[in-house]
Amino acid sequence: MPRKTINQIEVASQRVLMRVDFNVPMDDSGAITDDRRIKLALPSIRSVIDRGGRLVLMSHRGRPMGNGYESALSLKPASDRLGQMLEGVRVIFPGEDCIGDDARKSVEALGDGEILMLENLRFHAQEKAGEVNFATRLASFGDIYCNEAFGTAHRSDASMVTVPLAMEGKPRVAGLLLQRELTFLREAIEHPKRPFVVLLGGAKVSDKIGAIHNLIGNVDTILVGGAMAYTLLQAVDHDLGASLVEPDKVEEARRIIEEAKSSMTELLLPRDHVCGKELSHQSPVKVTDGPDIPDDWLGLDIGPLTREAYIKKISTARTIIWNGPMGVFEIPPFDEGTNQLARAIVSATESGAISIVGGGDSAAAVEALGLANGFSHVSTGGGASLHMLEGRKLLSVELID
Ligand code: AMP
Repeated sequence: MPRKTINQIEVASQRVLMRVDFNVPMDDSGAITDDRRIKLALPSIRSVIDRGGRLVLMSHRGRPMGNGYESALSLKPASDRLGQMLEGVRVIFPGEDCIGDDARKSVEALGDGEILMLENLRFHAQEKAGEVNFATRLASFGDIYCNEAFGTAHRSDASMVTVPLAMEGKPRVAGLLLQRELTFLREAIEHPKRPFVVLLGGAKVSDKIGAIHNLIGNVDTILVGGAMAYTLLQAVDHDLGASLVEPDKVEEARRIIEEAKSSMTELLLPRDHVCGKELSHQSPVKVTDGPDIPDDWLGLDIGPLTREAYIKKISTARTIIWNGPMGVFEIPPFDEGTNQLARAIVSATESGAISIVGGGDSAAAVEALGLANGFSHVSTGGGASLHMLEGRKLLSVELID
């Protein structure tokens, strides 16, 4: 359902408390290696300051201990980068405590068209805990709440849920990126053009079980790759050598396979594999000629027959959603399955399919290949888009007007 966006309300001289997702990767020297998340929030940020609003930005970064300031996880570099992008607009950064007196005084002194960025919310354990007093303090910094953090939209952190709850009665709106993410994913999931094909990969089947259950009966084809495929193959009695299998999920995997058989959804599993002896560039490589993996070998990518079969499905699809890489894409040659499927999705998109790659590692793979522009939508939220594939509501989004 469409939500009210930041563009649709008056913001002049109002303090807009905007939750963004500036959880950007940095190298050891503290330099930002990918500022896409900051760039994508710019339209919402500009919408506030260009109309004379007073913008208070809040975000988390990384996984701090939750008991105070940690310089390696400060949001200062993100705040500085935002200032550079906005050319000439100063971003006030009041320092080490997002709810401290310095922060409060700076918020009170904020003028029309000015921006302030609070320090990493997760320096307080209360953020993850959704604690009410912490949230009330943050809520007092805004007249308007704006959710522009799709990457965290599936979480119940204070800034996502308890803060908007504490601001009931005040306008609570969606950022423009959040709205775009929701529209793309909802449209694809609820009104897909068929055939509707979903690719699921990544390390663990346990992360994707909810999505598979929900997709069976709703999508035409599920293509499974990555290590998660091995637990499903184990469930139909294949040998997987030393590959990553989740033994406690084999029974559930068996049920999934049965469920798919009696539904309209075809669930395709790898027919062959590219294997290695270890997770390294130097590893010997073996391609199997069937779904079994010999002892002492690790399955690390989908094999050529599997790629061919999956590419065939992708080429006739009209809606494609992809979550999770098909192999260990970080280490060539085990990136080949992921790369070839990414290219196949781009060419299906050129022929008119809607394609969405859902955050995390698959989005990173697509970016690294320079193929991001070939997709209809590259999501900023792996977890949140998976949540939507599971058919679950995003509580933080439910709280928006
Ligand atoms: P996820 O976070 O669940 O999407 O998993 C992404 C991770 O899964 C990546 O780091 C991949 O290297 C890893 N992965 C994919 N395929 C395999 C595999 N066959 N064996 C081990 N790890 C894998």
